[in-house]
Amino acid sequence: MKICNTIDEIRNHVKIIKKADKSIGFVPTMGYLHDGHLSLVKKAKEENDIVVVSIFVNPTQFGAGEDLESYPRDLDRDFQLLKSQRVDFVFVPSVDEMYNKAYKTYVDVEGQITKKLCGSSRKGHFRGVTTVVSKLFNIVAPNRAYFGQKDAQQVAVIEKMVRDLNFDIDIISCPIVREEDGLALSSRNSYLNSKEREDAAILSKSLFLAKKMIENGAKEAKEIKKFIIDNINTVDYAKIDYVEIVDAKTLEDVNTLQGDILIAVAVKIGKPRLIDNIKVEVK
Ligand code: AMP
Repeated sequence: MKICNTIDEIRNHVKIIKKADKSIGFVPTMGYLHDGHLSLVKKAKEENDIVVVSIFVNPTQFGAGEDLESYPRDLDRDFQLLKSQRVDFVFVPSVDEMYNKAYKTYVDVEGQITKKLCGSSRKGHFRGVTTVVSKLFNIVAPNRAYFGQKDAQQVAVIEKMVRDLNFDIDIISCPIVREEDGLALSSRNSYLNSKEREDAAILSKSLFLAKKMIENGAKEAKEIKKFIIDNINTVDYAKIDYVEIVDAKTLEDVNTLQGDILIAVAVKIGKPRLIDNIKVEVK
C-alpha cells in the first residue's frame, strides 16, 4: 500500500494506472475508520482493479463552532486497517496541499437539496463537501466513487453535482453499517460516554419502529414524525435538530407517503450531533 501526501505524487500513480487501462475505485473519507468505511472499501475492491482511499478532514465543510479541531484522528490505525483490506493507494494531503493561501474556487449545488435537512443547521456544509469531492475527483480521476447511505443527503447532492458538471464517474451508494443495537457506525460515536452510547440507539430504534408503522398502513408524514419525535424524546437530554420525511430521490417533503421515501433524523446526544436515516418503499 502506497501512501501519498501530495497531489503530484498520487497524480503520477493515476497516470500509470490509466496507461495500463486499469479501473480505479475511490473511497473519500475523513479517517478514524470503522466498519462502515471498510464496507465501501470492500465494495470498491470487488468492482475495480485499483482502490484509492483518501483521508482528509476537510475544513471547508465544517462551520464555525463545529468539531473541526477535535474531530477524531488516528492515521496509524487507519493505515493498518486499509493495509489489511489490500488497498492500493491512500491519499492523505495536508490542508495547505488542498487549499493554498490564494484558494478562491468553490462548487455549490443550489436549491432545496442542499438547503434542507443537514444544510439548514450546517450552513455551507455541502458547499465544502462538493468543493472537496470535485477536487478529489479531478486528482484521483476514478471510474467509480463509493459513498455511504448513512449520509443520504450527501449522496443525493454528489449525484446531482456529478450529473450537472458531467463528471464521468459512477457514484455507488452503499448500505448503512450498524452496531448490534442498531446505532449507525460513525467516527463521531467516539465522543459518546457509555450512558450516551446506550441511549444513542434511540435514533435507529425510532426509525425501525416508524418503518413498521408504515408497513402496518400509516401514511401520514405528520403522524409518523410525531411518533419518532416522541420516541427520541424519551431520552430526556436528546436535542432533536430535525426529523424529516422526504422523497428518497428528490429529497422533497412528502405529506402522504407514496413510493420510495427517506426518513432522516439528526439529534444531539451529549456532544455529538448524530444522523441516521432509513429508506421505506411505500406501496
Ligand atoms: P466520513 O469519514 O464520515 O466522511 O465518511 C466517509 C464515507 O463513509 C462517507 O461516504 C460515509 O457516508 C461513509 N460512512 C460513514 N459511516 C458509515 C456507515 N455506518 N455505513 C456505511 N457508510 C458509512
